[in-house]
Amino acid sequence: MSRPAIDARTRLVALLGDPVAHSLSPIFQNAAFAAAGAPGVYLALRTDAGSLVPLLRAIAAAGGAGNVTVPHKELAATALDRATDAVARTGACNTFWSEEGIVWGDNTDVRGFRAAVASLLPGGVRGASVLVIGAGGAARAVLAGLEEDRAEAVTVLNRTPGRTRALIERFEAGPLALNAADGAESLRGQRFDLVVNSTSLGLRPHDELPLAIGVVDAPAALDLVYAPDRTRWTRELQSAAVTTADGTEMLIQQGAAAFERWWRTPAPVDVMRSALLTTR
Ligand code: NAP
Repeated sequence: MSRPAIDARTRLVALLGDPVAHSLSPIFQNAAFAAAGAPGVYLALRTDAGSLVPLLRAIAAAGGAGNVTVPHKELAATALDRATDAVARTGACNTFWSEEGIVWGDNTDVRGFRAAVASLLPGGVRGASVLVIGAGGAARAVLAGLEEDRAEAVTVLNRTPGRTRALIERFEAGPLALNAADGAESLRGQRFDLVVNSTSLGLRPHDELPLAIGVVDAPAALDLVYAPDRTRWTRELQSAAVTTADGTEMLIQQGAAAFERWWRTPAPVDVMRSALLTTR
């Protein structure tokens, strides 16, 4: 099926954030809209903090929908009439839409993370011990996903200890056994089932690694950062016989979950994946 011509019924689906010029979402969402015959056009709109809430609500009021990205996901969570559990758990919203005049929000990073872990570890993370590097917004989605998938224990390693404490406080009433790491050296020789990088380290080619190779003993690692030739961290871990994935699959799966909120039909995930991979 091909996308209907742009006409008076076309809905605006917008990515709100700053910066957005680098985003890959317009490429794979517009490909998905065309494949599914969805009457929408997906545009990236650079949005400052003062404009975020009125713009989000205006787009929803006009029958549109969208995504929210850095640095506005927490602010977006305050703009909603109703929110999913994922928003409540993480305090962040990356997807919005309207239903009968009510503005809804979800945080599909949680589902995206869970799907990415499921393809990396077919046995799942139930009962697993996981090291999470980073304590920002993405780390909240990671902990919410690990909670839902019944991981057992999570150790958090982050540059700024105050942020580690805040993350642990947010999740400590839940089922995960949580620990704060006192620097990378304190973890030397420890065993984990999975290591997750949720920092932004790896976005730039000369970034240091989130964690040096060989500090911990773990058979699998997931990097939320994505890069055309994977990230240096995942490449070096792969050479050390660790099973790895970068953030590409999570990106596709969070986008697929958003598509399903907007259009209430299964997302053409293969179309989204091939649109993304052919841009590289
Ligand atoms: P954020 O809230 O700004 O948090 C950034 C995190 O990175 C913090 O833990 C920060 O540590 C750490 N960090 C940044 N620079 C560092 C450095 N030089 N050394 C050590 N740690 C550093 O950002 P976020 O929303 O969590 O996003 C983090 C990453 O996840 C981004 O790269 C984003 O692209 C990626 N992400 C990917 C997906 C996907 O679908 N694949 C989805 C969501 C996010 P401090 O607390 O010490 O500042």
